[in-house]
Amino acid sequence: MFETTIAGSLPKPAWLAEPEKLWAAWRHEGAELDRAKKDAALVWLKEQEKAGIDIVSDGEQFRIHFVHGFLEKIEGIDWARKTKMGIRDNRYVVDVPTVTAPVRRRGSVHRDEAAFTRAYTDRRLKFTLPGPMTICDTIADAHYGRRADMAMAFAGVLNEEARELEAAGIDVIQFDEPAFNVFMNDVKEWGIAALHRAIEGLRCTTAVHICYGYGIEANIRWKEALGAEWRQYEEIFPALNASRIGQVSLECANSHVPMALLGLLKDKDVLLGAIDVASLAIETPEQVADVIRQATAYVDPGRILPCTNCGLAPLPRDVAIGKLQALGAGAALVRKAIG
Ligand code: ZN
Repeated sequence: MFETTIAGSLPKPAWLAEPEKLWAAWRHEGAELDRAKKDAALVWLKEQEKAGIDIVSDGEQFRIHFVHGFLEKIEGIDWARKTKMGIRDNRYVVDVPTVTAPVRRRGSVHRDEAAFTRAYTDRRLKFTLPGPMTICDTIADAHYGRRADMAMAFAGVLNEEARELEAAGIDVIQFDEPAFNVFMNDVKEWGIAALHRAIEGLRCTTAVHICYGYGIEANIRWKEALGAEWRQYEEIFPALNASRIGQVSLECANSHVPMALLGLLKDKDVLLGAIDVASLAIETPEQVADVIRQATAYVDPGRILPCTNCGLAPLPRDVAIGKLQALGAGAALVRKAIG
């Protein structure tokens, strides 16, 4: 009971990329870069195991960013044709690449990374992919015409990739959909249908991570504008609960999401965010245990997997290690008391 896992990303060590930065450039090239990424993944596997994390990940050490790391290897995208786009409903304006032709995989995107990581741990292994809606909110469309159509095309591509990752020994495939609490109507109209297309035929555990974003400036300002109670999830949880996705990952540590909303996910495993990613303060195991105990009022304890609120990528490495250890120790406290 209370098996632990992480949302996905972990900081890049200073020898791999500039620390405490999203989109930090690599510090090596070619074979040397390949070696450096693998070394970084090994460090994080060991740190997760030592912290008592049950379902581990490569910490996204092989990619600069969770969306573009995937898109880089997809055909149909013109990277030179930049379009200015307000993403996450205009929370940030960025120059994004443009889809100009049908999207297709040139070959496997992450299989070698998954196989490498698999070879170095006996624990269950999770791999994260961007969700179709979030991809479509991070790239401009000059080909499909409707966002729902482009999402379905990407979902097909993601499904091919997910099947390969499963074959490489991945136990949990998680789709990251931070766009889910921004476009609530789209979630119900086509977002979940696109996820279903992405998981078609998979036998491994499937998860979706929905969240209010990394602890970066633009997100902190956006969160302040959402008011005292964040009820966005109330609109989408019933649809998610009725979906075929196995697990839902969301933030519950220092969150304004009312804990009672978890009651709307009664048929899902809940990856319960018990680690704040927007604060440098390292939680005590008791604080983590407290979030878990609160959740047990709404979710069957057998369905709770203590997790981080979101990725830990932008944090200093030592802070991230401290938070992993707090997560493992906090879950152990509750396990001892309840389990
Ligand atoms: Zn997140």
